[in-house]
Amino acid sequence: MFNKILIANRGEIALRVIRAAREMGIQTVAVHSTADSDAMHVRMADESVCIGPPSATQSYLSIPAIIAACEITGAEAIHPGYGFLSENANFVQVIEDHGLTFIGPTAEHIRVMGDKITAKDTMKKLGVPCVPGSDGGVATLEEAKRLGEEIGYPVIIKATSGGGGKGMKVAQSAEDMEKAFHTARAEGKSNFGNDEVYIEKYLTTPRHIEIQVFGDGKGNAVHLGERDCSLQRRHQKVFEEAPGPAISDEERARIGKVCADAIASINYIGAGTVEFLYENGEFYFIEMNTRLQVEHPVTEAIYGVDLVREQIRVAEGMPMSFTQDDLTINGHAIEVRINAEKLPNFAPCPGRITQYHAPGGLGVRMDSALYDGYSIPPFYDSLIGKLIVHGRDRPEALARLGRALGELIVDGVDTTVPLFHALLAEEDVQSGDYNIHWLEHWLETNLGNA
Ligand code: ADP
Repeated sequence: MFNKILIANRGEIALRVIRAAREMGIQTVAVHSTADSDAMHVRMADESVCIGPPSATQSYLSIPAIIAACEITGAEAIHPGYGFLSENANFVQVIEDHGLTFIGPTAEHIRVMGDKITAKDTMKKLGVPCVPGSDGGVATLEEAKRLGEEIGYPVIIKATSGGGGKGMKVAQSAEDMEKAFHTARAEGKSNFGNDEVYIEKYLTTPRHIEIQVFGDGKGNAVHLGERDCSLQRRHQKVFEEAPGPAISDEERARIGKVCADAIASINYIGAGTVEFLYENGEFYFIEMNTRLQVEHPVTEAIYGVDLVREQIRVAEGMPMSFTQDDLTINGHAIEVRINAEKLPNFAPCPGRITQYHAPGGLGVRMDSALYDGYSIPPFYDSLIGKLIVHGRDRPEALARLGRALGELIVDGVDTTVPLFHALLAEEDVQSGDYNIHWLEHWLETNLGNA
């Protein structure tokens, strides 16, 4: 059993990991930038180490500073949270070279899945259905145009190293191809240092369905059903739920097994998410995330498991604490991402919180690092909280979400809370009838937001 772990992250996810560790009797070390000296994760951890100035590149992304913090405090393992270094294969390698443990998959698995072309290729070979598209990278505009005709427009050009919705461009017709191809390459180069792109059929009415998988690194793996994350703005999720309103028990069992078998066969260790687009009853793999996802709590709610605890267990070489047969769904859960952003344009809105009150009561979980008087620094992303509700069924979860949003008080900065109040009043949201483009259309119509 680990005695002490270090959390290489900040905000709500750092608290999430500290809480799991504490319940397991494990000591925790927080790391922080100078901008985060007063942050909640620093207060809540057993120890903390300042690892650099505000800029993330010099603090939360500084591998030497994080390794040094481990050595100073005697932490034996590192949990990366999500974002920052969580999908950085080099980080995992350095951790292992220092005789420490990374709480997550191997460097090799991160490398394979981090490159979207290799990931797709691997998944295809493992029997996972993929979006029709190019076989690997597309090097020239001529090839891109030829493929556009072959696959049929619209198509999407994607940077193989892309993430967070960056490096993706849609070409509606052959005329769009030149611009889309060059822009996707340029975004790939400037954001991820890699201009390789590939092409996929652009699906016009899909839902975003992702399967939570979990492996022990010894050839055993399970799936924990799906999450529907179709309500997105600029390819970024804002509202997630489990189970998916459009997925049947048979479909879940079938696609879940395909994913669990695939990751078992590569001895995958820890939590992972296999993302699909789902249209007309078919699943199409788009990418795999080799980490804990922001939206993992909806899965925890309906399956009654602690995914972070499981991550720590398997990293220690212990078996998973459940088998596929132990995993049954109880009710329905919804998460909304609360960002410090000003509507209608979602402009980041850092600043001082003058009053904070978290909602409570039956079936309500608020994962947030806010407190009265806290100043949200301008240097990091704008997620300030996740409100997760759990009910016996979808209507109960929706009613509970409305009730909990009504109790939440965040004064001093603008937040995305009004968006969720408005969405709950929509018939399509109430009935679960939406695809990945629904929210963009709604924002355009209702907020004039393009
Ligand atoms: P990222 O790594 O940037 O998150 P993904 O490949 O996971 O990129 O795609 C993010 C989102 O972009 C998807 O949830 C979906 O909304 C949209 N998208 C990706 N591929 C396609 C496609 N082939 N057709 C239509 N939409 C797509």
